[in-house]
Amino acid sequence: MTRCPLCGGEKAPGRTIYSVDLGTGVVVVRNVPAEICKQCGEEWIGSETARRLEAIVEKARQERPDVEIVTLG
Ligand SMILES: [Zn+2]
Repeated sequence: MTRCPLCGGEKAPGRTIYSVDLGTGVVVVRNVPAEICKQCGEEWIGSETARRLEAIVEKARQERPDVEIVTLG
């Protein structure tokens, strides 16, 4: 168990929503695994997950949907 560097609270594995506005459209990714601080709610996304998000955002940049909603497994 690691501690939150911001408030010293406990971090626990959980799921969050990641969204980004590309200007041409909005990408929303649900069910994103993250470490979440129980105390202040700050979230940390791992490098493997970050790479998956990057790929999703890159695809949306090229395809330019108005809204892209992805749910991670
Ligand atoms: Zn915290």
